[in-house]
Amino acid sequence: MKKPHIVILGAGYGGMMTAAKLQKTLHPSEAVITLVNKNDYHYQTTWLHENAAGTLHHDRTKIKIKDVIDSNKVNVILDEVICVKPEEKMVKLSNDELKYDVLVIGLGFEAATFGIPGLNEHAFTIDNINSARVLREHLDYNFACYHHEMETNDARLNIVIGGGGFTGIEFAGELANRIPQLCEEYDIEKTQVRIIVVEGASTILPGFDERLVDYAMNSLESRGVEFINGAMLKECKNDSIVYEKDGKQIEIPTMTTIWAAGVRANSIVERSGFETNRGKVEVRGDMRTPDHDEVFVIGDCALIINEETGRPFPPTAQIAIQQAETVASNVKEKVRGGKLKSFVPHLQGTIASLGNDDGIAEVLGHQLFGWKAAVMKKVSDNRYLLKLGGIGLLMKKGKFNFFH
Ligand SMILES: Cc1cc2nc3c(=O)[nH]c(=O)nc-3n(C[C@H](O)[C@H](O)[C@H](O)COP(=O)(O)OP(=O)(O)OC[C@H]3O[C@@H](n4cnc5c(N)ncnc54)[C@H](O)[C@@H]3O)c2cc1C
Repeated sequence: MKKPHIVILGAGYGGMMTAAKLQKTLHPSEAVITLVNKNDYHYQTTWLHENAAGTLHHDRTKIKIKDVIDSNKVNVILDEVICVKPEEKMVKLSNDELKYDVLVIGLGFEAATFGIPGLNEHAFTIDNINSARVLREHLDYNFACYHHEMETNDARLNIVIGGGGFTGIEFAGELANRIPQLCEEYDIEKTQVRIIVVEGASTILPGFDERLVDYAMNSLESRGVEFINGAMLKECKNDSIVYEKDGKQIEIPTMTTIWAAGVRANSIVERSGFETNRGKVEVRGDMRTPDHDEVFVIGDCALIINEETGRPFPPTAQIAIQQAETVASNVKEKVRGGKLKSFVPHLQGTIASLGNDDGIAEVLGHQLFGWKAAVMKKVSDNRYLLKLGGIGLLMKKGKFNFFH
């Protein structure tokens, strides 16, 4: 009898963990497993703001797929997914086509720019290794240019972060720590550099308790970060941004705008004709799409509603990793003709870093500030590495600089 073909799209938190679990639980005689990813590495998206600011080298964030996935058990195809054709049970890649019996879609997120003029053309985003590398190089280049030009140009040293949510604030924390090094390297006075967070809501970090938000703002302000809350970014040009606050439009000269105020599911999901809600597939309890029994969706491409609040769970690595446990188990049961189970999230808390040794956290009902939150974040990152690739991966890629 022909073995079923399981195809996993994307080696992110959701896809990689699903593949790692399936290679342990399904015997090669039961199914053929294929993992498709653009690169030969998995990257830790939750570390990208460090790569972008230049406080952590991107090689630390990359994990070779072959270091986790056994090629005797899982075929790895390095290619770009173009779309899925669910009616034909087929995936179109840029160089090939794949037929599947069971599909897991874990293609992650992309920036949502909401039609704001100039953002697509001029703003930087932090969404993969390449975009993080470009931003880090761009920062260095602007600092290098500052004293090299006939006329000094403040736009080179003004850095605007659009969005005071999780990503924007974590990036601001890293950048605030990197600026003194850049200033030293390029002979620039620290006071000449501005990091400005423009946030549409009246406060940064929506969803966090007020005490944690106050702590984060004070910590960042003490390192030179400015906040403009209640302000909507209206336009991004190559050398300035325009925002609107209290009915007035104000322009800030800047050659570096980082857009961190919106993500959406990978548009491949919508393009492939799956039924979507806010661009994501509102999955059934067992993580399958509403209309295809053989298609599972995971991570930022999936939408699940928090029944307590009636609102969708925010897209997080924490949820993607937990979903992988359920999806891997359900894929195995589907192959074996068993019963599928429902996904139940177990939220352990939220931790936001504010640089290497500072942060805020709400974990199991407790609030943590400063170095304790920063340590907790590293412990949580290390736990993921241990879960994904065992002690070997943890020792190779873990964060052990707890106090410095
Ligand atoms: C800077 C930053 C900090 C964050 N911090 C946290 C945090 O502290 N805690 C937390 O829980 N969450 C955090 N998040 C959110 C978290 O990173 C995402 O929710 C998580 O990465 C989603 O996992 P995923 O498996 O859906 O997709 P991803 O991990 O994004 O992986 C998607 C994979 O699909 C691949 N791919 C995409 N398109 C294609 C294609 N066309 N063809 C082939 N392969 C493709 C990509 O290369 C990637 O490997 C953060 C996000 C950012 C940007």
